[in-house]
Amino acid sequence: MLGLKSGTPPDARPRYLRMKIHIDGQLLDKEDAKISVFDHGLLYGDGVFEGIRIYHGRIFRLNAHLKRLYESARSICMEIPISIEEMEKATLETVAANNLQDGYIRLVITRGVGSLGLNPFQCPRPGIIIIASTISLYPAERYEKGLNLITCATRRPTPAALSPQVKSLNYLNNVMAKIEAIQAGCEEGIMLNEQGYVAECTGDNVFVIKDGQVYTPPISAGGLDGITRQAVIEILGQLGIRCTEKMMTRHDLFTADECFLTGTAAEVIPAVQLDRRVIGSGKPGPVTAQVVAAFHELVKHDGTPVPYTA
Ligand code: PMP
Repeated sequence: MLGLKSGTPPDARPRYLRMKIHIDGQLLDKEDAKISVFDHGLLYGDGVFEGIRIYHGRIFRLNAHLKRLYESARSICMEIPISIEEMEKATLETVAANNLQDGYIRLVITRGVGSLGLNPFQCPRPGIIIIASTISLYPAERYEKGLNLITCATRRPTPAALSPQVKSLNYLNNVMAKIEAIQAGCEEGIMLNEQGYVAECTGDNVFVIKDGQVYTPPISAGGLDGITRQAVIEILGQLGIRCTEKMMTRHDLFTADECFLTGTAAEVIPAVQLDRRVIGSGKPGPVTAQVVAAFHELVKHDGTPVPYTA
């Protein structure tokens, strides 16, 4: 024994109130939810994931998330051992078992248990993990006052190396960029692609407003095709605000009137500084406020209802 202390104290709550985690078809108490050290998800970051929100007892855009999950898996030559319908059912059951009306779901598909070599074909069955919990990515104050951003020196990798559309378990590129942002005293960072065009943030997509029009980088700039991004493009259409995809450099952010980020965990959040330079008035702007309000309205009814049993 090395005398290491266990990180999490035992859960004192009665068993029926404890967090339940889905692993390979079973709902387990958090303490019992464990996977093998030989899982290639751990050994190589070989696997895919999704982060999904529950709002008011509804899972926001579950089908879009499941579609992206199965496409990520297909892209890395991994066959998820259950159908998309079965995954949907397992997700709903996990949320219901944890009695969550609002929260965050993490779907994780690992390559599975194999030997100590890269070969994924020696892993007979991918592992399925579903966690339903809560999340608060940024302090409430940041939603009022806006985030401060830096430009990360770490670039998004070229799609020739790995498609940014694969939401893989290897987020080290984003983690390195996030470290830069945090060490600079910021909450998020802008990531450029190899050519120096704005791709996205470490875990969010980016939008700017200029002269009443909204712009966002095209997916071909190297960002993830975000589901919140898509929802916001739809909202802008309904609000009658023109939204155009445009290759952008830092110049477009420095000279913007407003800027906001979108992501499942972040939702829609204003950004008011980049590299210590003030964006627009330095305060969240009116178009951003309109989008935030419309997004909060949308999530009230746009989602798959969870059949609660408790
Ligand atoms: N970019 C990256 C790198 C992300 O990890 C995420 C969060 N999944 C996003 C953008 C936002 O995508 P979504 O709105 O689908 O959460």
